[in-house]
Amino acid sequence: MSPIEVLSQESDQKISNVGSEYDQLSDVELIELAESFENTNLNLSQQLAIKGLNKSEENNNSILSAKALRFLGNLADNAKDFELAASYFSKGALIYREKDHQENYIKMSLYYTKALLKQKLYKNATEIVNEILPIAIDFGDKTLIGRSLILKGDGLYKSKRYEEAISEYLEATTYLTGHGVVIQKFLGNTYKQLAQSYKRVKNRENTALYYKKTLDVYTALRDEKLMARTLNTLAEAERYLGNYVIALDYSIRGIELHKLLEDPEGRAKALTGAGIIYRYIGRYEKSLKHIHEAYLYYKKMNDSSGIAKTSNQMGLIYTRLKQFDQARSFYQLTIDLPTTEVDANTLATALRELAVIDLYNGDFTTALIMAEKALDTYQLENDKDKQALILRIIGNIFRGLEDKTNAIDFYRQSLATASEVGNRLYEAKAKTSLGGLLIGENTGEAIELLIEAVETSEEINNKIQMLHAYGFLIKAEKVNGNIIAALDYAEKKISLSRLVQEQTENSELVLQKASLYSHKMEIELESLREKAKLDALELEKKSNQIEIAGQAQKISDLELVKNKYASIALVALLIICLLVVLAIYRRFNDSKKRNIELDYLAARDPLTNCYNRRVLFELMSRDFASLEPFNEYCVIMIDIDHFKKVNDTYGHSKGDEVIRGVGDLLQNTVRQNDIVARYGGEEFCVVLPSASLNQAMRISETIRSKIESSMFENISITSSFGVSSIKFKAKSPSEIINQADDALYKSKASGRNRVTLWDESLCK
Ligand code: GH3
Ligand code: MG
Ligand code: MG
Repeated sequence: MSPIEVLSQESDQKISNVGSEYDQLSDVELIELAESFENTNLNLSQQLAIKGLNKSEENNNSILSAKALRFLGNLADNAKDFELAASYFSKGALIYREKDHQENYIKMSLYYTKALLKQKLYKNATEIVNEILPIAIDFGDKTLIGRSLILKGDGLYKSKRYEEAISEYLEATTYLTGHGVVIQKFLGNTYKQLAQSYKRVKNRENTALYYKKTLDVYTALRDEKLMARTLNTLAEAERYLGNYVIALDYSIRGIELHKLLEDPEGRAKALTGAGIIYRYIGRYEKSLKHIHEAYLYYKKMNDSSGIAKTSNQMGLIYTRLKQFDQARSFYQLTIDLPTTEVDANTLATALRELAVIDLYNGDFTTALIMAEKALDTYQLENDKDKQALILRIIGNIFRGLEDKTNAIDFYRQSLATASEVGNRLYEAKAKTSLGGLLIGENTGEAIELLIEAVETSEEINNKIQMLHAYGFLIKAEKVNGNIIAALDYAEKKISLSRLVQEQTENSELVLQKASLYSHKMEIELESLREKAKLDALELEKKSNQIEIAGQAQKISDLELVKNKYASIALVALLIICLLVVLAIYRRFNDSKKRNIELDYLAARDPLTNCYNRRVLFELMSRDFASLEPFNEYCVIMIDIDHFKKVNDTYGHSKGDEVIRGVGDLLQNTVRQNDIVARYGGEEFCVVLPSASLNQAMRISETIRSKIESSMFENISITSSFGVSSIKFKAKSPSEIINQADDALYKSKASGRNRVTLWDESLCK
């Protein structure tokens, strides 16, 4: 028996009945009727098809039976009942094989294979493809051969045999040569699979290359959703390559495209991606803004895994800024999420980063607890790279605790794990740490390890790591009394530091270039938006400024060291170029139309990420300075009702979560240009710059009822509102806020959970 026969016997088709009103219809009519109901009444459609199938079997009309089976298989597949789908497809395939109907036999078997893959039955799937592939080759239809190879690749990919998957996919592309939409879709998908496989084997160049090819195919097909998603992944691939300018370009194009699509998940991913790139180029305020927007999307979608990922990202940004309390609170957010809904790795990242913060702050005991928890997860997930990392961190913690024995033990474990998976960087790091610690204790082994560390670091071109190792080598040789060797290493260290210095300058230039480019791109985007010509944005249109920066880099690439005089001249030239860049950069900033480059971090309230009170007044003062008599401008003050009770009943930290929840709700409800600020403890102020009084009242009412009907940490609350408008002739931000506050007071006095509009009579 062939695998198809075996498997098709394993599950039996389910049969149900519709009423007798369809009894007179013929098998052909029943199946046609089933097809006509496919999009309107699924249940009926399915039952009619089953009836048609039974009748066709009675009539021995096997080709019609096969058709019905394929239809039923597709219905089951759409309903995600893959087991049922597989059984229909396999039966259909058998019929076609008996009838010697090659093309349909192949096609049906491919559907069958797909259904098996979706059930994670990779071995069975591979068996089927191996049976079908020679038949497809014999039959000679290129597309069918290509599709068979893709499925073979998919089975291998899902079994984590990436190298083999790559070779199947590559072969598949040679068969997918037609220009039809269907073939192109298969091709695009294969390129995407190739990119993902290359990503798994850490071949970054090919990852980017194949995502680019994917993008080209989807662009030609004008499939905007796929384009947008590919732009995200391509941006990530370029970021891995250190091509920040290109990465940012793709990323921003992705975000722009997502704005036109109904794809909140894709949008959130795009925003996260851009946020990460901004962090890499040191634009933390932009980074935080993007990540936070993504975070709000995930909250809206109730996607814990997304919430966790973005919280971790915010934690990372704050860690970079050395604002550890803030960072800690975001990691804690990840840890507090329901563990069943959060990716284990994401959770482990939060634990690991918390451990690093604690280690940095000298809280070794808590650091150890966190790190050990992270280690457990990485062991469960069998992620050896991360295990090597966390083992070294634990070693560092023990070193902090001055527990040498344990530190050495963990460094050794880290080294063994890194070697096991061939992670050269972690090997070098473990060897360096271990070598450093063994000096004096076992100096001979220390020197051996450190020399290896130097060699490994050199292999992977990590000069900083080499410097560390040289540092310890000098110390070790001194301890050994071998001054000549120590001097030799010292010399090596000095000449290497020079190189590193130059390299750092170079890479700083690259980062500056990227940062400059991102500024430029913002301006460009703004004007493009106005002209609605988004697709005109292209990388070739690099500004002169960036070329100058590029020129500067080229100049610095010229062997500076060789000729002292020439190098001085070149350095001078470099400085001039940099000054020019800086001047242009400043001009750019000035020319920016609405130049409110606020320091995002200083501007935000850490608990809610809403604007803080100081910035609220700054923004309002700016608005007041340019208000025209005919302008609309409204302010809403909001205060949570009986909030003390919340604190008293559930505790202060639950209270904090409620406040955070209200902040999120407000930011999710108002429009982009509106201002949401945390005015005081549980008081918020919302400014609607171009809303009429009626609109402001309506928005307040919407927010009021949303708060009333929402649960915040399982706590239900209400809140009171006061509204005022510029039409009541306030002369300053504080006057209009006071008006709204007086109206709020009236809401409180007349029973709470309501909206009150300011009027003259409220003047005290
Ligand atoms: P109402 O507004 O309805 O008159 O009653 P209330 O109980 O809400 O009274 P009020 O607005 O005067 O007091 C707010 C309380 O909120 C006081 C303080 O204990 C609490 N609070 C202020 N800031 C925070 C904060 O950041 N976190 C938490 N958990 N509580 C806060
Ligand atoms: Mg209050
Ligand atoms: Mg209150």
